[in-house]
Parts: sequence; structure tokens; C-alpha cells
Amino acid sequence: MPVLVMKFGGTSVANLDRIRRAAKRVGVEVAKGYDVIVIVSAMSGETNKLVGFVDETSPLYDAREYDAIVSSGENVTAGLMALTLQEMDVPARSWQGWQVPLKTTSAHSQARIEEIPTDNLNAKFGEGMRVAVVAGFQGISDEGRITTLGRGGSDTTAVAFAAAFGAERCDIYTDVDGVYTTDPRICAKARKLDKIAFEEMLELASLGAKVLQTRSVELAMRYKVKLRVLSSFEEQSDEAGTLVCDEEEIMESNVVAGVAYSRDEAKMTLLSVADRPGIASIIFGCLSDAGVNVDMIVQNISEDGRTDMTYSLPTDQVKRAGTALDELKTSGGLNFAELVIDEDVSKVSVVGIGMRSQSGVAAKMFKVLSDEGVNIKVITTSEIKISVLIDRKYMELAVQSLHDAFELEKAG
Ligand code: ADP
Ligand code: ASP
Ligand code: MG
Repeated sequence: MPVLVMKFGGTSVANLDRIRRAAKRVGVEVAKGYDVIVIVSAMSGETNKLVGFVDETSPLYDAREYDAIVSSGENVTAGLMALTLQEMDVPARSWQGWQVPLKTTSAHSQARIEEIPTDNLNAKFGEGMRVAVVAGFQGISDEGRITTLGRGGSDTTAVAFAAAFGAERCDIYTDVDGVYTTDPRICAKARKLDKIAFEEMLELASLGAKVLQTRSVELAMRYKVKLRVLSSFEEQSDEAGTLVCDEEEIMESNVVAGVAYSRDEAKMTLLSVADRPGIASIIFGCLSDAGVNVDMIVQNISEDGRTDMTYSLPTDQVKRAGTALDELKTSGGLNFAELVIDEDVSKVSVVGIGMRSQSGVAAKMFKVLSDEGVNIKVITTSEIKISVLIDRKYMELAVQSLHDAFELEKAG
């Protein structure tokens, strides 16, 4: 029988009522003749609560225990979804990651999927099971320890199952009815897209649009998974939502496809480091060893053989980065005058494949921000995106003004 993967995010399984509603959607697909693999997130708020318990218990926690704890929210919803389906007379059972087994690397809290053997689930489908409810976000390492795939990782679980089982489609049910030109929660004029190219979705996701986890888009692109985002709160047709697809399948599009933001960014500047070969390697090697994800990097012009080095990172990694650099200084590994930290910045980005062939997007972006009196602290660009770091208090204003200026409310 053809296989369909249906993933329900946190708000779509937030309580028993919502689980029943989601289960009904699954029942519709089973009635059409699909064997369904349902991937569930934890109830909304649950993972944050578990992360809070870990932080309170042990600030510099053992990442293996972090994973054991924060993965548990999905175990509850998987079991509840299976029970709800059984109540509807749909043959279903739950699977935790290790039971599949979904094998991952042992990079705890950000593990990558290595293999999903299909035999166990297929054997059960062969015996009449119609729905396998799999706990998203979690797997098992070679060492036999529970791992998690990074926040938002259930999207990746879903796409990986769709690829492994050759599913006809991977439907991501969430609390918005598709992918928008920007986050509809902060821009009322945001427009829902019927289709978006993999590459644009990949950039939007990696720049903060959390509607899909970045890795899930990468996997869908690589394994040619038909990926769709849609709402679990509305009745759905087969054409509903947004299809993430190849560029060639999209007839017309705007130069800028969307605006993304990442609210909780920080900027750190090392004042007066030596300007000589090897310094960047020492600084960023140290940060990488400390597990810090550095994003933008700027090095100033040097004066008297010394320079300043600025980089951005997620706010919640500032403490770890500061500790690592202070230790490096104390041990004599790096000499710098001061470490200046700005924890009140956000990153705003415009993304579009059209930028490859059309110039002037950066100039327009900078003009829009300057007209609004927004100071740009750091800029980075790639072929299809431009990102700026700005004061957090201007973030929403920047997103809305850019959305207006590039006329994203209108279809291209
Ligand atoms: P789930 O719990 O279903 O995984 P998420 O909260 O992870 O849902 O992702 C959905 C949210 O992503 C939406 O509620 C929306 O606020 C946010 N979002 C950010 N950017 C976009 C965008 N461009 N299009 C749609 N949603 C977006
Ligand atoms: N529950 C996890 C999180 O909140 C994974 C997910 O929902 O995708 O990050
Ligand atoms: Mg999510």
C-alpha cells in the first residue's frame, strides 16, 4: 500500500481534543488506502518545560541526560495518538525512536540521522497495522544512548521517514496554513505561498523561519521528498498549504521571496587582538570546541598590528563563549584587551533566488532601514540572501518595512 507521512507539531497535539482532531485527519488518509506513518511532537510548551528542568538542575549539564529528559515529551504524545486511533478502530501502535530504531550520530542535542531501517515497521504493516505513530525528535546512538535532533527536530524525523519508506508525500501539519512571505505573527500583510523552492525554504529556515527545521528541508531536497506544510486546524483538500518543490516547478516569483528573522542573537567583540596569521583560527577554534555556533564574523581594519574581531551567536550561548575565551586568555592562549557583549540584537534577512540575476536588492534593503532610522551593525550576504544585525527593538519594524518595500503582499 502507498505510504503517507503526516507530522503534527506541538500546537496540533497540545491537548486530548487536538489529538483527537489530528487522529481524525489520519483516519481520513487511512480510509483512502494509505499506510500512514504519523510523527508527533511533544505537546506545545512541554519541551521548553523539560529544558527548564535541566537548566535548573545542572547549568553545565551532561548532554546525554539532557537528551534522555527532553525527548520524553514525544513519548507521551506518541502513545496518546496511538490510543486515540485505536479508539477509532484504526489499527495503530506507537514507536519510540530506539524501537524503530532511528539511528543517529552521538552529537547529543543536535544529532544527525544516519539510518532508518524499515523492516520493523514494514513487518507490522504486513500484519495489518495501518498507522505507525513515531515519537519525533529522538533517536539512538551507536553507544545505545537516547539522542535528540535539535529544536524543531520532529520535522526532520518526518522527512527522513518519508525518504526511507518512499512515501508519496510528507505533510507537516502546524498552526499556520502554510509557508508565508514572512512570519504571519509579526506581519499582518504576510502572504501565504502556494509553492516555495527548496533553496529559498532552506535559507528562510536557517535564517530563523521556524516553520520547518533546516535539516528537514535539506533532506527533502536531497531525497526528493514531496514536502507540504499545512494547518491542522482547518479542513484540508489535497491542494491545501504550501508545497516545497524544485525551482523549475514555480512559474513566476518575486525577486525577494521572503523575509526571515532570528530574534535572540548576540554580538561579541574582542577588542585589540593581534593581527597576525592564526588568530582567527585560535579564536574560532576555541569557540567551536566549546560548542558555540558562530554565525556572522567581521574583522576590523588593523591599527598598529592590532585589530577587533566581532561575531554573532545565539543569546543562550553567550555565557559558554565568554567562559571559553576568558579561560583561553588566562592560560596565555590569546591576548585581548576586552570582550564587549551586546545581547540585544536580532538578525533580519531577505531571501530570494531572483537575487542571483537582479542587482540592487542590498541597496534597497539598506535604504529602507536607513529611512526607518535603523542602524545596521553587521551585514552578511550570499548569492540568494542578505542578512543584517540590528537592535532587537527595531526587529518587527524592520521586517514589516522590508515586506512593504519589496511588495511581498503581491504575487510576482
Ligand atoms: P510546530 O509546533 O507545528 O512545529 P512551529 O512553531 O515550530 O510549529 O512553526 C510554526 C510557526 O512558524 C508559526 O506559528 C509561525 O509563527 C512561524 N513562522 C516563522 N516564519 C514563518 C513563515 N515564513 N511562514 C509560516 N510560519 C512562519
Ligand atoms: N518538541 C521538540 C521541540 O519543541 C521537537 C519538535 O517539536 O519538533 O523542539
Ligand atoms: Mg516546529
